[in-house]
Amino acid sequence: MPRKRYSRFFSGSSTRHRVPHELPTHRHSPESPAPGVALSIAAHRFGRIEDGRSVYLQAGLHGDEHPGLLVLQHLLRSLHKLDQLGKIRGCVTVVPYANPIGMSQRFLGPVVGRFDFENGENFNRNFPLLQSVVLDHLDANEPARLTAARWKQRFWEALGDGTNLSPAAAMKHALAKLSIERDVVLDLHCATYAIAHIYASEQQRKRAISLGNFMDAPIVMLEPAEAGGGAFDQTYSSAWGTLQSAGIFSEEESGFSATVELRGQADVNDELASEDAARLLAYAQSEGVLALPDDLAAVELGAVPEALPLTGAAHVRCPCAGIIVYRRAPGERVQKGETFAEIVPLDQDVAASRVPVVSPIDGMMVVRQWQRLVRPGQRAALIAGAEPLADRNPKRLLLDFYGIEAGLLATTGLSAD
Ligand SMILES: [Zn+2]
Repeated sequence: MPRKRYSRFFSGSSTRHRVPHELPTHRHSPESPAPGVALSIAAHRFGRIEDGRSVYLQAGLHGDEHPGLLVLQHLLRSLHKLDQLGKIRGCVTVVPYANPIGMSQRFLGPVVGRFDFENGENFNRNFPLLQSVVLDHLDANEPARLTAARWKQRFWEALGDGTNLSPAAAMKHALAKLSIERDVVLDLHCATYAIAHIYASEQQRKRAISLGNFMDAPIVMLEPAEAGGGAFDQTYSSAWGTLQSAGIFSEEESGFSATVELRGQADVNDELASEDAARLLAYAQSEGVLALPDDLAAVELGAVPEALPLTGAAHVRCPCAGIIVYRRAPGERVQKGETFAEIVPLDQDVAASRVPVVSPIDGMMVVRQWQRLVRPGQRAALIAGAEPLADRNPKRLLLDFYGIEAGLLATTGLSAD
């Protein structure tokens, strides 16, 4: 089968830095889903991976989450300028739209980009996890002290060639390969209506808090090393986390990945995007990847975020259908037993009393619904608490199909992150 076109755009002067070592990534471009249709993922690279530390950023893996798409456009402009000024010390890779399949899925108008129309799969699940591959390397009595660079190469090799995959699987494979050899990997998402928050492995607690601090995200949610689900950032954290668990690298020496939730779906404007881009640059500078000139360096750090276990996140479900009216907004504290919202039934004979939606825990409201017409079992809010919840299975925290099986989720405690 002939190779499909792969668009790999390098900005400006950075094309001169292209090195053979990186070229294989382009072989794993998404296959054409149908005759006459070409998929492409653009990867802008600034600097050389050999020169220092490296950061990878992508946005839009959920095709209907758009804040990150605009943030990366702002970021690209700044990176181009920094590149011209010779301020890139290491390497920055930017994939400005990670999911052309999801972005093209329109159903009667709106983009429906969270789940694959082909099979209902969440586009941010079922990425490869590398624990067993890394453990096999360790069990094979290979030198326990391989360099970090050599381990990165192993991870890259472990992802394989990705032949004969579906277009969506090939796209995921390409994204994993583009990112796996970097030192920091950030996946930009958003929720429905939310404050900024971060998801990361609990093995990377300090670094996740640092990132949250730079991004002015009040909440960092930490997942166990084997939370399951195969989110994009878990390909990366599964590899490094296994080495961390084996005592080979410390948290600081390991690669770091995180999912950055840039508020809600409607939080797309130049003011927010420009600030978020500046924060990402400041964070990249803190990682030693680039040096900021004075006119780009001014970013006020937020408060140190609260780091909470993902097992303590309560997904509070709507008890009935109706219009939900919130008493609390994202960012506000909620008490256990507090009615944080009410549902107004619409189909009663007389004006019925409202149905309370009650928080099962003390915590902070992080996410709530954007559309207010709800049905039973739909998530009314994500409330982040400090104590692990008995009904949340730490190994199945991310296996959600909340758009499809919310009723089941309500009984299993699966997450809709
Ligand atoms: Zn998302």
